[in-house]
Amino acid sequence: MRSTTGWQADGATRTLRRTTLERRDLRPDDIAVRVEYCGVCHTDLHALQAHTDDANGMLVPGHEFTGVVTEVGDAVSGFTAGDAVAVGNIVDSCGTCPMCRAGQENFCREFPTLTYGGTDRQDGSTTLGGYSREYVVDHQFAYRLPAGLDPAATAPLLCAGVTVWEPLRALGVGPGSTVAVAGLGGLGHLAVKMAAALGATTTVISRTPDKADEARELGATGFVVSTDPRQLEAVRDRFDVVIDTISAPHDLAPYLRVVAMDGTLSHLGHLGPVTVDTIDLLIGRKKLSSAGSGGRSSTAAMLRFCAEHHITADVEVLPSSQVNTALERLERNDVRYRFVLDMSDLDLDY
Ligand SMILES: [Zn+2]
Ligand SMILES: [Zn+2]
Repeated sequence: MRSTTGWQADGATRTLRRTTLERRDLRPDDIAVRVEYCGVCHTDLHALQAHTDDANGMLVPGHEFTGVVTEVGDAVSGFTAGDAVAVGNIVDSCGTCPMCRAGQENFCREFPTLTYGGTDRQDGSTTLGGYSREYVVDHQFAYRLPAGLDPAATAPLLCAGVTVWEPLRALGVGPGSTVAVAGLGGLGHLAVKMAAALGATTTVISRTPDKADEARELGATGFVVSTDPRQLEAVRDRFDVVIDTISAPHDLAPYLRVVAMDGTLSHLGHLGPVTVDTIDLLIGRKKLSSAGSGGRSSTAAMLRFCAEHHITADVEVLPSSQVNTALERLERNDVRYRFVLDMSDLDLDY
């Protein structure tokens, strides 16, 4: 085993503390990555909450990170030491089920191996995430970091970015499309940038009028205040695609009503049961959909697109020692729009 440092929760409390942790020795297909930057995702908060409840084992969150290859396994030909890479929220899949064969490893029927809190397919160990200085990963689930993309601001593309990218592409968003993005957080701000760069006319739907200027800066040309029924009525049946990134449970009806005929509401921000009055689908033959994460090929395509269009996340970079502050502030939505941890302080003794 190889030893590294990281930020761990032990189940007794949600506070992460610095710890030494072990990584596996490289298998033939593995690369070792020195983690430079890791984004702080809502999933990390949920995982910490769940972990506190069950108090089992060790949790090291973090599943959107960038770094540098330090070592490669015997069978790896595509990467060499020194390459800049990025890793997202899945690190393995069965490779043979219909979803995997279709390039959607994120939907693997045998369940994709999650970057943390997952079960390694070969040795059964629990995966430990990117809030650490080193990660060992099968090279097929690492992505070359395109030149010109800032490594800190690129980290969130690997979870938040690809989660909005896949539905935008799958729903055929391009020049001439009308897209609305509901919620302007980590997912939402990237959805606005990507939809606008794809050529769509993009509108932000937000509870708070004070986000109008930010929405325009991100590339939106329209802004609708969701608490104002007149503004919602004015855009009724308007949008081919509505990307709903609101992380709290909420009523879908107002968002379905602004979907255009035969259009789709893609519900991404919140997982769990929802209630839908089918009359809101019937009128206009509207569709309700969801998505999450991305397959390997679309993750690579997303990174190429972002490099071409100079898209990265708007981030606040903190030393990794401030991870607990970042999580507390994320819980209060006090971030524009994503925290990224700089892992270099893990090299320092203390
Ligand atoms: Zn995530
Ligand atoms: Zn599979």
